[in-house]
Amino acid sequence: MVQGRPQPSPMTVGVVGAGTMGAGIAQATLAAGHRVLLHDADPAAVARGRQRIESGLDRSIEKGKLSPEGKEEAMGRLREAAGLEEIAAGSDLVVEAALEDLALKRSIFRALDMHALPDVPLATNTSSLSVTRIAEATHHRERVLGLHFFNPAPVMPLVEVVATDGTARAALQAGIDFVAGLGKTPIVSADAPGFVVNRVNRGFTLEPLRMLEAGEATVEAIDGAVEAAGYPMGPFRLMDLVGVDIGYAVATSLYEAFDEAGRFRPSPVQAQMIEAGRLGRKTGWGFYRYDEEASSAGAADIGAIAAGGAGAPAGGSSLLSAAAIVERVNLAIVNEAYRAVEERVASPQDVDVAMKLGAGHPEGPFERAGRLGLRAVIEGLRRQAAAAALSGDQFEVAPLLWQIATA
Ligand code: NAD
Repeated sequence: MVQGRPQPSPMTVGVVGAGTMGAGIAQATLAAGHRVLLHDADPAAVARGRQRIESGLDRSIEKGKLSPEGKEEAMGRLREAAGLEEIAAGSDLVVEAALEDLALKRSIFRALDMHALPDVPLATNTSSLSVTRIAEATHHRERVLGLHFFNPAPVMPLVEVVATDGTARAALQAGIDFVAGLGKTPIVSADAPGFVVNRVNRGFTLEPLRMLEAGEATVEAIDGAVEAAGYPMGPFRLMDLVGVDIGYAVATSLYEAFDEAGRFRPSPVQAQMIEAGRLGRKTGWGFYRYDEEASSAGAADIGAIAAGGAGAPAGGSSLLSAAAIVERVNLAIVNEAYRAVEERVASPQDVDVAMKLGAGHPEGPFERAGRLGLRAVIEGLRRQAAAAALSGDQFEVAPLLWQIATA
């Protein structure tokens, strides 16, 4: 795993965008003792961001991690910047967390690049755009990298540090050091779609959706089985929390990025849920009901919404056992992890760390494969390919897995 080097003195970190992620990143940066220059195109967003940072630091006081004086001192290190020029000229490192829009990010990086000294690293917090395409808008591609924080940024321990083919060693190391200085764990990822976590974790939601789509298992049976296997939250509860529309957008963008490979195909169940306005917690119902009509049973009727009405109704019986459900999810993830490593997205060690810290998995995919034995993993994949009603290339043994198992 990559190691951060201690930073001798506080830096000034520019944060562009004061929304959910920008405010969270600014809070974590202030808590680590740095100065923050914050800018947002919308002045009201800066005010809201400041408020969010204050409330976040208040929570740290409640938890006994910060004193009231410490909070005042940290807030004293937060300054608002009038524009990108001020951020660029006054920062030792910049993290951009504006809207997820390539043209917008390219224009921001062009402006930052014009006004920052050439050795100032410029990082984007994009979750799905190409860091390379953003870097290409600058004259100094070597200083551009990704720093992919997870939400909520002050709490989540993982940051994916994304290197393009053109990122200089020094800029990458600066990103690693910065992340380590925040008390977080950096892992290095290539600039490939979904980086590590969003890609390798696809099977966590897509396999359950396919089981539901095919009527093989119920929402509650799947969530129950997965939670009992040590995952912090079942896939349907997670989709409801994140927002079914957000999950569908991520799934669609990865499907397109991977040339519509079958294993990344989004589920029609998601599309139908969105059409019905069932976006999860934020609309009061998704896979479960959260509004006043919620029954104590929880799960909403999915039978009517799953493709062709074939989905298993909530409360109905599951055809698959808990063990079969968990095996299917786990093996899809392990197989994708091998594909990612084969494509040199990250090292096996970093993939394991990323899945545990970024997605809360009880065990990394390579740890799991090592524990089960590679031959057993291959047998399991073959079993799943034969048994799954909606099987795609997710169960086709990854070439690297096959190669290592048969070496
Ligand atoms: P958000 O909508 O909460 O905040 C975005 C902010 O950017 C807004 O305040 C907006 O006013 C500001 N903005 C728009 N144009 C700007 C400009 N030209 N200059 C400066 N600021 C501008 O969005 P968010 O959820 O904080 O996401 C920000 C970025 O982080 C996106 O790229 C997103 O993909 C990424 N990300 C989000 C999450 C998440 O869970 N929300 C997780 C990881 C990464």
